[in-house]
Amino acid sequence: MKKHILFTLTLVLFFSSLHAQHWCGAVQNQNKILENRPELKEEIEKKERFFNQLQKNQSEKRLGNEDPYIIPVVFHVIYEDEADNISLAQIEDQMRIINEDFARLNADTTNTPSVFAKYAGDTNIQFRLAKLDPDGHCTQGVTRTYSHETYKAAEQIKKLIQWSPKNYLNIWVVNKITFEVPGMENAVVLGYAQFPTLLNSSPKKDGIVLRGDRCGSVGTAAGHKGRTLTHEIGHWLNLIHIWGDKECGDDSVNDTPTAKDKNGSCPTFPWAQERCKKKVSNGQTIEQASGEMFMNYMDYTVGSCQNMFSLGQGERMRSAVRVFRSEIASDDNLVKTGTNDNYGAVTCAPIAEFRANNRFICSGDEVQYTNTSYNAKKENISSFEWVFEGGTPSHSTEENPAVVYNEHGIFKTSLKVSNQAGQYSLVKEAFLYVSKETAGIPAPYIQNFGTDVFANDNGFENWGRSASKDASWTQDASLSNKALKIRSGLFSKPGEKHMLVSPSFDLTNANETVTAYFDIAHAKRNGNSKDQLIVYVSSDCGKTWQKKWDKDTGELSTFGSGNVYVNYTPEPEHWDQFNINLSSFQGEENVKFKFEFFGKEGNWLYLDNFVITDRTTLELHSNSISELKLYPNPSKGDVTLEFELFENAEVELSLTNIYGAVIAQETRKLKATLNRVSLKDIKGDLSAGVYFVQLSHKNYKRIEKLIITN
Ligand SMILES: [Zn+2]
Repeated sequence: MKKHILFTLTLVLFFSSLHAQHWCGAVQNQNKILENRPELKEEIEKKERFFNQLQKNQSEKRLGNEDPYIIPVVFHVIYEDEADNISLAQIEDQMRIINEDFARLNADTTNTPSVFAKYAGDTNIQFRLAKLDPDGHCTQGVTRTYSHETYKAAEQIKKLIQWSPKNYLNIWVVNKITFEVPGMENAVVLGYAQFPTLLNSSPKKDGIVLRGDRCGSVGTAAGHKGRTLTHEIGHWLNLIHIWGDKECGDDSVNDTPTAKDKNGSCPTFPWAQERCKKKVSNGQTIEQASGEMFMNYMDYTVGSCQNMFSLGQGERMRSAVRVFRSEIASDDNLVKTGTNDNYGAVTCAPIAEFRANNRFICSGDEVQYTNTSYNAKKENISSFEWVFEGGTPSHSTEENPAVVYNEHGIFKTSLKVSNQAGQYSLVKEAFLYVSKETAGIPAPYIQNFGTDVFANDNGFENWGRSASKDASWTQDASLSNKALKIRSGLFSKPGEKHMLVSPSFDLTNANETVTAYFDIAHAKRNGNSKDQLIVYVSSDCGKTWQKKWDKDTGELSTFGSGNVYVNYTPEPEHWDQFNINLSSFQGEENVKFKFEFFGKEGNWLYLDNFVITDRTTLELHSNSISELKLYPNPSKGDVTLEFELFENAEVELSLTNIYGAVIAQETRKLKATLNRVSLKDIKGDLSAGVYFVQLSHKNYKRIEKLIITN
């Protein structure tokens, strides 16, 4: 149907609560873009008016006799779990489906009711996987990117990778789509496209985001029909939902009957003949008495119910190619992307990639490596050259080797793959974390991150962090109480995960109140920033991890509800102490912690004072007193306490045993300077053992572990 009411993009949709599955997010996405950039609204409306007028003028001209338009396509697979790294076969199955649907070669055309079948047709638009990438290199038309963002994909996913939208249809394949649009937060969105009217003003967002479990009909999408992409390409070529996105609305196509609203599931024909009877306007070439065209790809019915585009929709899409996307289907571009008819099939050079069955093991364990190189079929990869730092064997030419690690440490692994077309080398730094099988550091334990704690280069008896080209966990020595910090706003790609891994601790002698404490200071940067910190604990060298603590953006801020846009430096009162009950690890001799941080556009997050103790409370923070130093430590009892006061203060010095019992305590008035106190002045003789020296001022406390030997 077609009406003389102009389609306006400001109309916000009202979703029926009956449909839990809002499976297409294209319109919501456009509304959000225009909300953020209102200056575009007028421009887009103008383009729509122009386009609709053009389409109206050409509506009598059938376009089926022209050459087909060919669209080069690239799939960007974004994955973290290997299961989401879908196969080339699954992508090729999706390509088969869209090409059949757009050419009306789909097997279920027989399900189109005869009254609609005469309006159904071949759109004369074809899709081909790119054979040449933007640099002119041989490609299978698939890129693969490792990123945590795959679990809540939206616009930011496009920052990970995009090929020029003037030359390729970009399709990002993700695990889940999350829309931060009011009313859509919990909606199940299977895919969304950007309309072509936004190509020039928003080129970096052009393309389609698609859930992997709806990409094609095999592999992870087995049981589905692969028509989410058919629908989304419809939007990408300027088709509107058949209900015009409002009650009995206008989709600017003459041969689709007016529909009152989206249809779900699969109605029985004829369906809803009466719902929009009074609203039918001039220009419509199809009889409203036939009911709604619920089997159209641009409705919300299930894939097995859909089977047609109308000829008018085909014309509208071809017009969209001509008006908005002419370059992509041009002969020059087909040659440039290797999608022209004469492009000869060649074998591409492989791109190296691999995974291991476990990256955390005990010394003596075996790791099974799996080659996941792509861009060339496995049988076309002629050689594999593996190098295993710290492993036995140290080299291998097998495709999927098994390697034993006898020494503890953090090790890199590399793989070079090659064939007659070329070679590719991949090095993964800090890939394997091998812990000693024997008992770890005995608790109690204090780490105030006052010295460089990272040991990636010299073994694994100290704290280690994931290797990354980006900024990662780092020490901030400028704070009076040196701390670790990390900032997602410095990550070049959203979704990077940064690990901080502790050494192993021996909790054999701890009691059931054993607890890990740590201090956090963090401020949210702005409304877009997203940060998350998760703490895991393992008692088997990291082969399995238990999630023990998990906070995201809002909960993570210790600054309050406000945002801090500039570099955040915490004030003393910003520090919050958190703890993890370790009672279930009591008696274990190899307990390890993993702090996992990821996010985007965030401000600094600080971590300090990691303590394992049997005590049930612990207070540590201060800005008015510096770190407390004890030396020598361990010692036979002749120990100096050194600390700096930033104001004249009455401080309390105390000595406790590991069970918290106070052995000695005194108060001293001291000046704002570097102070040194002999422990012997507080407590003369101490038997061998572990103690805590505590320095307190007002509510601030410093605690250091002291070991007295015989
Ligand atoms: Zn849609």
